[in-house]
Amino acid sequence: MFRYTNSESLSWDTGPTLISLPQEITKIFQLLQKEPPQLIPVTSGCRLVFSDGTDWTLPAGEKNLLQYFKEKDYQLFENFSQILKISSNIFDFAEKNIFHTDPPSTMSLGMKSLSSGLFFRHPKVTLTPYTKVVDSLISNKNLREFFYHFASYVGVNPDKAQGGILSIAHVELNSDIVFPAGGVYTIADKLYKAACEYNVKFYFNTEVVEAKAHPHEDSPRSWNICLKNNNETSFASYDIIVSNSDPFVAAEKWLSNTQLKNYFSSYLKTNSLRPSESQFVILFDWKDASSLVHHVKIFPKSWRQSFIDVCENFNLPEDPCVYLVWPHATDKSISPRILYISAMAPNNLSEISWNQDFCDKYSEKILDICRKKLNLSFKGTVFKTITPIELENRTRSFKGGIYSATSSEYQPMSFHFSGLTKVPNIYFVGAGVHPGAGVTMVMKSAHRISKHIIQKFTNWK
Ligand SMILES: Cc1cc2nc3c(=O)[nH]c(=O)nc-3n(C[C@H](O)[C@H](O)[C@H](O)COP(=O)(O)OP(=O)(O)OC[C@H]3O[C@@H](n4cnc5c(N)ncnc54)[C@H](O)[C@@H]3O)c2cc1C
Repeated sequence: MFRYTNSESLSWDTGPTLISLPQEITKIFQLLQKEPPQLIPVTSGCRLVFSDGTDWTLPAGEKNLLQYFKEKDYQLFENFSQILKISSNIFDFAEKNIFHTDPPSTMSLGMKSLSSGLFFRHPKVTLTPYTKVVDSLISNKNLREFFYHFASYVGVNPDKAQGGILSIAHVELNSDIVFPAGGVYTIADKLYKAACEYNVKFYFNTEVVEAKAHPHEDSPRSWNICLKNNNETSFASYDIIVSNSDPFVAAEKWLSNTQLKNYFSSYLKTNSLRPSESQFVILFDWKDASSLVHHVKIFPKSWRQSFIDVCENFNLPEDPCVYLVWPHATDKSISPRILYISAMAPNNLSEISWNQDFCDKYSEKILDICRKKLNLSFKGTVFKTITPIELENRTRSFKGGIYSATSSEYQPMSFHFSGLTKVPNIYFVGAGVHPGAGVTMVMKSAHRISKHIIQKFTNWK
C-alpha cells in the first residue's frame, strides 16, 4: 500500500483499490483490541464494458445479480446462477479446509473433498483447468470473458489455472466488497498506529540487505541482520524473522542461507513457477469528473489472449484490459478528481525500460480506450504513472509482478509456499505465501503463521 499526495493535498492510493472479505480486517483489529477502519460497503456495483459494446452494470449481492440477468436473458441467468452456486460451494469448502490452514497434502485434500461431498457434486470443476470449466458452464461470450478474468487475481493463465479458482467469483460477486473511508491506505495507517501502541519499532526507508542465521541454531538472538538506510549500514540481532518480503526475492537478494536459496530457486529452475504479471497504473487528476460507478472494467476483444500475451510472452498487449476505480462513488470525502486507472502490463522479464516517453504513450493509449468506450472526455492530467519497474524497486516484488511466483503449468492440487521452513526461527507471510495475494488473503497467512510462532514460543526456554 502506498499513497501519493499532490501539491493541492489530493491523495491517490496506488493500489490496492478495493477490499473483499472485510471480516479478516475486523478480526485482526478485534485481536489487537483496536478500532478498525470504517469500511464502507461498495453498493454501486461493477460496470463491465465489452468489445462488442455490451455494457453491464452489475448490481451488488446475489439476489440483485440474479434478477439483473433474469431480466436480460433467461439462458444467461441460468448459466450465471449455476456457476455462482458452484463458486460459492468451492469457496465455503476452501474457507473450511484450505485458506486458514497450512497447505494441505493432495491426499488429505482429496479425503476432505470426498467426505464433504464437494468432489461428488462438482468432480469436473475440481480436476479440470479453469478455461474448460468456464466454457462448460457458460455459453455467453461476454460472461465467459468476465469469468476468465478472475484468473488474473492469481496471476495464472486461465488455461493452466485450477478449476477451483472459480471460488474467486463468489468473493467478487457474492460477498461484501468494501472501501475503507478515506482510502485504502487507511488500513495500513491504522495498523501502523495500533502496532506503535504495542511498542513495535519501525525503521522507514531501511532495507534488510542480509540476514544470517547464528551458527548455534536455536540460541536466542539467532538471526543477525544487516540494514541499509541510504549509505548508512547498521547491524542488529533478533530471535525470529517474520518476513513479508517476497520469499523468492528474499532467497535471491538478502537471505544468506544455502538451504533456503536452493529451495526457492529449484521451483524457478524447473519452470514450474514463474513471476506473475504486473500492472501499469495511472493516477489521474480528473478535472472534468462526471458520475461513474466505483469500478469499471473495459474488456479487450479477447481477455484471455491479451492476458496470455502479457503473462507468458511478456508483451505489452495491443488490446489491454483497462480498469477504472473512482472512490468518490462510495466515499464522498474523496475528491471526484481522484481517478485510478490500471491496465495490463508484463513483468520486468519484458525488459521494457518504462521511460517517460514510453509511459506517456501507453497512458495516452489507455485514456483513449476509456474515452471511446465510456464516451467521456476524461480531461485532466496524469499526476503520476506507476510502472512494473517502480513496483519492483519500491515493494521489492518479484520481477515487478503483483502476485509473487505463480504456476506456469496446470497443477490441480498445488498451493503457494507454506511460509514455514526447516530453517529455525524464520517465517514468511504475504502475497507469496499460502493462501496467496490480496489484502485480506495476506492477513490470513499472517494470522496462521502467528499461531505457529505463538505455539512454538509459548513456554520456550
Ligand atoms: C496495482 C495493484 C493493485 C492491487 N489491487 C488490489 C485490490 O484491489 N485488492 C486487494 O486485495 N489486493 C490488491 N493488490 C494486491 C495487494 O496489494 C497485495 O497482495 C498485498 O499488498 C501484498 O501484501 P504483502 O504484505 O505481501 O506485500 P507488500 O504490501 O508488497 O509489502 C511488502 C513490504 O516489504 C518491504 N520489503 C521488501 N523487501 C524488503 C527488504 N529487504 N527490506 C526492507 N523492506 C522490504 C517492501 O518495501 C514492502 O513495503 C494490488 C496490487 C497492486 C500492485
